[in-house]
Amino acid sequence: MNTFRKLILVTAALLAAVTLSAKPRVRIIATGGTIAGVSATSASSAYTAGQVGIQTLIDAVPQMLYLADVSGEQLVNIGSQDMNDEVWLQLAKRINVLLNEEGYDAVVVTHGTDTMEETAYFLNLTVKSEKPVILVGSMRPSTAISADGPANLYNAVAAAASPECVGLGVLCCMNNQLLDAKSVIKTHTIDCDTFEGGKVGCIGYVYNGEAHILQRVTNKHTVNSEFDITRLDRLPRVGIVYGYANCSPLPMQAFVDAHFDGIVLAGVGDGNFYKDVFDVAVAAQQRGIQIVRSSRCPTGPTCLNSEVDDARYHFVAALDLNPQKARILLMLALTKTHDWQEIQQYFMEY
Ligand code: ASP
Repeated sequence: MNTFRKLILVTAALLAAVTLSAKPRVRIIATGGTIAGVSATSASSAYTAGQVGIQTLIDAVPQMLYLADVSGEQLVNIGSQDMNDEVWLQLAKRINVLLNEEGYDAVVVTHGTDTMEETAYFLNLTVKSEKPVILVGSMRPSTAISADGPANLYNAVAAAASPECVGLGVLCCMNNQLLDAKSVIKTHTIDCDTFEGGKVGCIGYVYNGEAHILQRVTNKHTVNSEFDITRLDRLPRVGIVYGYANCSPLPMQAFVDAHFDGIVLAGVGDGNFYKDVFDVAVAAQQRGIQIVRSSRCPTGPTCLNSEVDDARYHFVAALDLNPQKARILLMLALTKTHDWQEIQQYFMEY
């Protein structure tokens, strides 16, 4: 082989190596859910979530290896109905290490859909990086006819590998849509088209392996969040009480008696209490248990000092957060302060 030909070959090899290494390094953390679920037969609706391991999920979607240098690890393998504070803390800490110490460009978290919105919001407040963090799951188990997991995972890796998704906070990628952690809600029990962003809508979509962003979120998150879980191994205890006509005060009283640190009300309408529950809430707040008013309505804010005089009772209004996300912000807020006005300020910013 002459020198010129050798030079061309070496240059081509170098270019190929640079192109290969130029692919973003995406780490997938698997936590279980229906995306890792298995049914007895492909037509059966009965299945068990969290059965299949990370490597099987990766092997099922070889197309994503063109988009990114993909590798994975298994954190837990559970149905997300069993998600808990301990796993959240482990997950947030691990993502921070992967993005800030181990040089990964993005993280994808495979997750059950039941509590995906909660994990997304928790990570949105505790991950310290602008790099993409994308949660993904599926509504049909991996063994189902027309399982939605592989396409969702492919899209999630495409989003994770995209510069478009830098600085947006934690996102969920489901059914071709990208949804921000604050707005995303699971709206349907079984349909594949279940995740929505309420009145905000989706913030983008993934199509043909490319992410397209339509709008940007304005609430504080990730690198601008002041919540630091690095040294935490537990979170304050916060419960949720559901409101309804003729509501019993017993659940609220049980949280008070068990010395919970805070209680979120999933109130009726604009975060209203049934009168018996209201009396327990006032007494709880006086004992230093922070009450946050949210709403069981699927959309709309719970307004401060509107139908309820929050300033008088030192209640906090959840504003745009639904009860399950208000619970997360209250837990993190209580790691920093017990001042109701400072906590209200957090609800205005996050
Ligand atoms: N129960 C399942 C879970 O959240 C449902 C799902 O993933 O779609 O893990």
